[in-house]
Amino acid sequence: MRALTWHGEKDVRVDDVPEPEIINPTDAIIEVTATAICGSDLHLYNGYMPGMREGDVLGHEPMGEVIEVGSDVETLEVGDRVVVPFTVSCGSCWFCENELYSLCDNSNPNAEIASEVMGHSPAGLLGFSHMLGGYAGGQAEYLRVPYADVGPIAIDSDLPDEQVLFLSDIFPTGYMAAENADIEETDTVAVWGCGPVGQFAIQSAWMLGADRVIAIDRIPERLEMARRHGNAETIHFEEDDVYDRLMAMTGNRGPDRCIDAVGTEAHGTGVTGVAEKAKQEARLEDDRPHVLRQAITCCRKGGTLSVPGVYIGRSDNLPFGSVMNKALTIKTGQTHVQRYLNPLLETIEDGEIDPSFVITHQVSLEDGPEMYETFNNKEDDCIKVVMTP
Ligand code: NAD
Ligand code: ZN
Repeated sequence: MRALTWHGEKDVRVDDVPEPEIINPTDAIIEVTATAICGSDLHLYNGYMPGMREGDVLGHEPMGEVIEVGSDVETLEVGDRVVVPFTVSCGSCWFCENELYSLCDNSNPNAEIASEVMGHSPAGLLGFSHMLGGYAGGQAEYLRVPYADVGPIAIDSDLPDEQVLFLSDIFPTGYMAAENADIEETDTVAVWGCGPVGQFAIQSAWMLGADRVIAIDRIPERLEMARRHGNAETIHFEEDDVYDRLMAMTGNRGPDRCIDAVGTEAHGTGVTGVAEKAKQEARLEDDRPHVLRQAITCCRKGGTLSVPGVYIGRSDNLPFGSVMNKALTIKTGQTHVQRYLNPLLETIEDGEIDPSFVITHQVSLEDGPEMYETFNNKEDDCIKVVMTP
């Protein structure tokens, strides 16, 4: 089959690879009908994520039709149309039973590698590094879905792929980011990053009752989408001083809730003992704005900082003294996608939101390598790419 594969920093190719097969009786195989590129894929593309191997199949935002199920699969049948969460979760460990799906204890077969770097292991993730399970991803014609009874949600309605695909990741991620921000009715919410995750965080902040949303980025079409679609006020972080503007906009108190939907891209990242490049980055020698530092500095006393943005390894130089003395609450994590599938599908079916607003590019899988470059460089007004195998 055809699949997008990783061959090193900024080297993604379309290769012929073997089709996936059922390995465990709880697996299912789907024929992929739509699959997206995520900002998280860019961490792999840019070589920030340790544990990638040449030929790894990328992709963690897929949907498609079930074509085979393992003997223990009970909830899915051949022919079902499903969206597959990027978090691989067993459904029966302490964490899954407590709906902390992205912290599943059993779904990362390489837990010891993750523990070496992070001191613990989160769940396995589809199409990510071997440190997080080494599961082949969904930017391919076919995908093996592990624990098929736990993740995938069947779509019974005739909503098009474009409207339900983002249940796999970025809609739940934006929603959990807003939920983690503890939004109350009178709150001003500041969102750093107007990529796909930021856009869904903005939408979700309104859904959860925000009084005001301020979005921060430097890319004109993304700021424009935040204004037009997200009804947000915006700050261009290269043209304006973010701190000064936020203080002026909030009577000098600072936003009540801050969401970092940027992550590691905006500043150095470091992974101890793994990637030399990442270690160099960790020294923070560059002067790119550090979103976490900025959000901590801007957030009002007693406010909440929600961090859906992905950080890898050590992210040093945080003003933790400010966090403590300003009594900030910080909440973060990979999204517990399974928790949000049903309620968010309902919001789409009810017409409360049409997630397809974020799509700017619909192409074939064969165009994948070019699209990685375009999306990474934020060229051609690219905000979200959906591919059809
Ligand atoms: P993206 O790369 O498309 O968007 C990031 C945006 O941040 C860009 O528009 C960029 O211009 C902007 N940005 C960069 N520096 C900035 C700064 N200093 N201030 C304000 N904005 C800045 O990525 P995305 O798909 O929107 O994903 C965003 C983050 O969310 C990534 O780190 C991704 O890995 C992460 N993510 C997390 C989860 C999760 O489960 N927690 C799931 C999906 C994605
Ligand atoms: Zn993603």
